[in-house]
Amino acid sequence: MQPSSPKLSPCLGCGAMLPVNARASIGATHDYLLASAECWATFGEVLAREYSNAAYAKVHRLTVDAYAVQHPGHPSPQSIQSVTLHLISLCLVLECGFDMDQATRTMQRLARHKSDFVWLTPPNSLGDKTILDVWQAPDAIAHVKAVEEWAQSAWSAWESHHPQVRQWTLDWALNCA
Ligand SMILES: [Zn+2]
Repeated sequence: MQPSSPKLSPCLGCGAMLPVNARASIGATHDYLLASAECWATFGEVLAREYSNAAYAKVHRLTVDAYAVQHPGHPSPQSIQSVTLHLISLCLVLECGFDMDQATRTMQRLARHKSDFVWLTPPNSLGDKTILDVWQAPDAIAHVKAVEEWAQSAWSAWESHHPQVRQWTLDWALNCA
């Protein structure tokens, strides 16, 4: 090992290998998404690009959805609601052809069904793309492509639950669109 190689540690959520404490403040993570501090800080940098540049922002919906379903955490009312809503959003965009604004507006109306949400046991692998692939994109065009591939990868990882998510989408989202 090269003496200059940074020590890498895997994120407990998505598995991304990130340099330990390179950009993170210790302990600065989300309260129910299970992510390493390094992964959470990387996500924050990606969000900052999307908030400051419209060319990056057009895939913001997918960025938030992919990150949430790759960091499901443990069963709690908040994590159940988060995973359910973000999987439905991915289904709406990737399978039903909704644009990002339509998906966001639809998600906002779905909270009223939250008493019917149930915990879906996360798959062992949450996909082979992570926030790191997006963070490494050199420009807006590469960013959009990386987010689309990451979102597809994260959605595919939940394949065993697709029948349930499609049913919820049909019952709650398409009927209220
Ligand atoms: Zn992660």
